[in-house]
This record gives sequence, C-alpha cells and structure tokens, in this order.
Amino acid sequence: MKKLIGLLSLLLLVSIFTPLKSTSANTMFSDVGTTHRAQEEIYYLVQGKIASGVSSTQFVPDKQVTRGEAAAMIGRALGMNGEKVATKFADVPSSNFASGYIKQMVERGIISGYPNGTFRPYETLTRGQMAVLMNRAFKYGGNTVSVASASSTLMDKGIAQGMADGLFGSDLTIKRGDFAVFLARGINTDFRTTQTETFDQTMYVNTNNLYFRTGPNTLYPWIQKLHSGQEVQYSYSIGDWSVIKVGEIVGYVHSSFIQMDKPLDIQPPVTPAPEPEPEPVPVPVPTPPVDSPNTLSDLVVIIDPGHGGTDPGAPGNGFLEKNVVLNISRHMNSYFAQTPIKTFMTRTDDYFVTRDFRVDFAAKNKGDVFVSVHANAFNGIANGQETYYYARTAATNPYEKQSRALAIYMQNRILEAWNLTDRGVKNKGFDVIRANTMPAALVEVGFIDSSKDIAYIQSEVEREKMGKALFLATLDYFYHFDGRQDVLALYEQFGAAPSNRIH
Ligand SMILES: [Zn+2]
Repeated sequence: MKKLIGLLSLLLLVSIFTPLKSTSANTMFSDVGTTHRAQEEIYYLVQGKIASGVSSTQFVPDKQVTRGEAAAMIGRALGMNGEKVATKFADVPSSNFASGYIKQMVERGIISGYPNGTFRPYETLTRGQMAVLMNRAFKYGGNTVSVASASSTLMDKGIAQGMADGLFGSDLTIKRGDFAVFLARGINTDFRTTQTETFDQTMYVNTNNLYFRTGPNTLYPWIQKLHSGQEVQYSYSIGDWSVIKVGEIVGYVHSSFIQMDKPLDIQPPVTPAPEPEPEPVPVPVPTPPVDSPNTLSDLVVIIDPGHGGTDPGAPGNGFLEKNVVLNISRHMNSYFAQTPIKTFMTRTDDYFVTRDFRVDFAAKNKGDVFVSVHANAFNGIANGQETYYYARTAATNPYEKQSRALAIYMQNRILEAWNLTDRGVKNKGFDVIRANTMPAALVEVGFIDSSKDIAYIQSEVEREKMGKALFLATLDYFYHFDGRQDVLALYEQFGAAPSNRIH
C-alpha cells in the first residue's frame, strides 16, 4: 500500500504545478503597480481578503499602519470572525471596524491594550509591537515574548530585516505596504528572504478530495485535491490551517483534515470524482469590514502640495516653495494617518503635476475637502499669512459657503501656529480652487522671501507645527460647518480642542 501511495504522490506531483506566489486577484490598485516593491505580497493578502484597500482603487501603501488595522489584518489571517462587538476598551466601541478582531485577539492573549483601559486603535503600530504581535499570532514563542526576542525571531525566519545600524528599529512606525510584506512572509515562506522552516512531521489526510490551496482560507485557489490516507509533511499552522508539503509543493489545508496517525481504512485512490464536490470545509471567511456610511473613515481629505518638479514655485532665502510645501503637506498627512480619516496627496514627492490633474484627482478620490498648500514671495518686504477660497460665481466650484468656512478655519489655525502678519481670508479665483468640485481652500503659509517669515519656513519644528495646524483646521471645519461630533475624539488624541465657531 505504501508503494502505491508513493507512486500516486509522484503522479500528482507532475500533474499540476501552480507557483504559490501567483495571484489572480481581480483588484488592481492604482497606487500598487507591477513594479511596486510590495506588489506580490499585497495582492496575495488581498486575494484572501486578509488585507483590503482603503477604496476599490487605492491601497495607500505609504500610509502608516494603525494598531486597529494591524489587529484586523492579523485577525483575518487567523480566520477570526470579524463581526463588530463591544469591547472592554473605552476607545474601541462596537462601531469600530476592528472591534471584533481586537476582542478575540485580546482573549487569546495575542494583543493587549494600555494600562489606562484604552487600546488606541488609531495609534500607529511600531516595528517592536509588530514583532510581538506576529510572534504571538503565529506562535513563534510564548505570549510573554520580549520585543528583543520577537524581533530576532522575525529576522532569523527571514520575515523582517534589521536596520543598517544593526538594530531592529523597534520604535519606528510601519507603512501599510511594509506591514503587508511582513504579514505575507509570516503566512507564506515563498515570500521570506531565507528558508528556515522544516517540513519533517509526517501526517495523513483523513478525507477524500481535500483541497490543497495556495493560502490559509477557501478564497485561495486549490492546487491539487488530496485523498484519504495520503502522506503529507507538516510544518506550521496559520490559525486553523496547516502549512504542509506534498511532494515538493508547499500549500495549505484545513487542520481538521490531517492527522498524526495513519487512517485505518485507506480508500484506494481514484481518478478525480466525476461530480462537483462540495467544499470539504465550510470555514468562515470573514468579509473585510465595510464601515457604515458617514463614519470618520468615510471622510476624505485631499492634500495638495503646490508646484513640484520642473515648477519650483516661489524661491527665497535659499529655499524653494515646492520643497517647503511638500514637507508641510507630509506633516499634515501624517497627523491624518493616525486617524480613521482618509487622505490623498496630489503629489507625494518632487514631481510636476498639472492643475487639471490635481482637480481630477481630488474628484476621482471623492474628496470632502481640498486643501492646497503654498508659500508666497513678492519683494522681500511683504510678509504674512493668508488663505484663499473662491466664490465669485457659482459657475465652477459650487461650494462657496463651505470653501469660505474652510478658509476661515485654516487662516485661524495657521496664525495660531506661526503668528505672522494676518493678511486675511480672501476670495480669489486661483485655478486649483476655482475649478474644484468640493470645498476648497488655498493656504499661503508665509513669504519665503521675507526675512521675518523664513525663520518659521526654514524650521522643521515649525513646519511640523504648520502641518498640525492644517490638520486641526480641517477638523474645525468638519466640527463647526458639518456639525460632526465624532471629530472631538481626534482633537483629544492630540491634546487639542476645537477652535471657536467663527464662520
Ligand atoms: Zn504657490
């Protein structure tokens, strides 16, 4: 009998070979193209609905991953039911998209909150936290594993690399794209940089027509059907799924269909059954969370750093406007990255984008507000801060009142941040705000050629303050104009409070 099985394995081996890394996901994200460094890993996770985009067209790989997002992705990898539930954490209400995963992972000792009874789901995850989380989730060590030992395990397994200085960088944050790489490597050895897993535990299939898949849930395609009594080599588990080797092929089966002992009645191998087989395992596959409309995560802020590439904007005091405003915009973006509110930047680096692109990009990403960031230059003497909106005719941007209110809150916060000369809120037809199809404001943070203003513009600390000011001004607009109460928690998160109502 053994000989027969051996022969059969051999036959199966040559019959089908599907490279495990190949994915047939239909989803394509415009920001994860074929040359993206994390492309294969992201689509592998998306195929199994372990990761999802922030929209159907955007994955936003450069956004920092939050504790809540990480809990959801790992929870889905482990096959947890993501149904939203009440939790013991004051800041994780049942409405939170990750509440179900957070609760189950806390119960299993995989993740924990803070001593003050909060979980901080919107706080960015650090590399150290990621290492501990993955060690516990994939059972590399006990639940009391230290950051140092968790980190070295990930490095040993080829899941994460250390930094150039030889350290792990435990306090650094992680982008969604990089988190996807780590998680995909944790699940699938094909993605790892070294191969250390052994497949030396012999086990036996205990059912016929068992689907042998490319990932740990039924959304992944099957490579072969295994038969009762078939010998397989087990290595490790991902939730309720086992990673096994059949011949030279590594893949996944539900753990309830393999066992240590050889099954007593080995059914003779048969040619594939003629009738369609039902799925052997009705494993619940969690659907990725879809937030109910009108939650914070439905809000979209378009951040528009002015100029870029061949268009340097205003020069002054050895600085170029394009660089300064990109830096401020990134700071603004990183505040939003710590909240559920989504952002899209019209440019994320130093390259040229047309005005039409900015406007179309904002519309395509369904922005709720558009904030254009600029710096002025004139004669070296003029100085100060101003904010523009457009309300001359209703022919183009129809959101006059909204744009004016947005501009008022922007001007208020930028003055609060730098306290330069107040040049006021002005109605002017700059193309990028005139042609826009959402509430839009254009901020001039100061004069780059002014000896007074440059003291702020050239300072990284001050630019960070400006980024925060633009973030808070956007919250002020949502709070006062839209009457949203749910942004109050976000002010609190950063030790701030709403401005006065001034529009
Ligand atoms: Zn400009």
